[in-house]
Amino acid sequence: MAQIKKIGILSSGGDAPGMNAAIRAVARKAIQMGIEPVGVIGGYKGLVDEDLKPLSSCDVSNIVNRGGTALYTARCLEFQTEEGMNRAIATCKRNNIDAIVAIGGDGTFRGATDLAVHGIPTVGVTGTIDNDITATDYTVGFDTAMNTVVELVDKLRDTCESHSRINVIEVMGRHCGQIALCAGIASGAIATIIPEVPFDEAEILNRIKTAREDGKRGMIVMVSEGVFVKDGQGNEIPYGEVITNKICEMGLDAKFVRPAHIVRGGTPTLRDRLTATKMGVKAVELIAEGKSNLVVIENDGKIESLDILFALTADRMYKGKLKDGDLDKFSAEDIKAMEAISEKRRAEIAELYAIANDVAH
Ligand code: ATP
Repeated sequence: MAQIKKIGILSSGGDAPGMNAAIRAVARKAIQMGIEPVGVIGGYKGLVDEDLKPLSSCDVSNIVNRGGTALYTARCLEFQTEEGMNRAIATCKRNNIDAIVAIGGDGTFRGATDLAVHGIPTVGVTGTIDNDITATDYTVGFDTAMNTVVELVDKLRDTCESHSRINVIEVMGRHCGQIALCAGIASGAIATIIPEVPFDEAEILNRIKTAREDGKRGMIVMVSEGVFVKDGQGNEIPYGEVITNKICEMGLDAKFVRPAHIVRGGTPTLRDRLTATKMGVKAVELIAEGKSNLVVIENDGKIESLDILFALTADRMYKGKLKDGDLDKFSAEDIKAMEAISEKRRAEIAELYAIANDVAH
């Protein structure tokens, strides 16, 4: 096994609070182990364009407390072309980068496996607010995003209560409703609507009507951005807008709020800083052990790692997106483990959804 002397660190895809804590942890742990860390600016684009910055311990000072990513991020289509990949590999070779730690979401990990296939050892660290990578219980940024939603809703509730109004809040999460679900419970929503669980619109509208008749003035309806309905032309209409109109049609005052990217920014919570730090340290340890093509995950509170392809395939299995041949590379035992991961996530969502309804009104 060739000794690892220099590692590149990059953040890619959507930014997430806690990415900086991961960058700092990777850089500091590397230095502590005698490995030289180098920052890759703007995700995979920085590898394609050879935009690098050596990182000293001081360079990563005063970022643990900051949202966003000090190494910046970008969506880089060029990296997905043969020419882009060749340039990225050439950057690693020219600069003696022996391995890469890539912080991001599933797209970032797909890029990491491509690098590994081309001979650059890679380890991924989860950084995405959506918590939408099924093989890990937790992705860095999720806690901060949920707390930001709760803070916003607490402010909206004051106005809702004063004006006897219903606020419908659409929150990020793409196809994953976890931010909406957890923040819905924590902010006292009367209804939470997520893509993973079918819902009964008439029952929700009736719940709101009954609550108003019982004397409830302000109400919050939390909707995940992944819930749509199709109009006559087949266009997807965000469901939050649809239900807002339906509540108004019942003669109630309802307003739609889309905090959008506000939920992505801000000071990372302790949970995100701590998890990012643990994951960053683990990533460097794995690389120093000569491991590659792994993603660092959290499983029942423990920091562990999984083969990236296994993790991405488990994710596709849960999301019902498996393509022909996806499972061919895996043993029966692996497939059973993937099924268990999907089942764990389904059970977690079902339990939270039931709790949300138990306390809705
Ligand atoms: P988030 O979900 O938080 O937005 P992400 O990592 O999924 O994070 P993407 O935009 O999907 O975000 O991916 C980030 C980058 O990873 C892309 O811009 C691209 O450079 C690379 N990438 C994405 N998908 C692939 C792929 N299939 N093969 C190689 N590289 C990829």
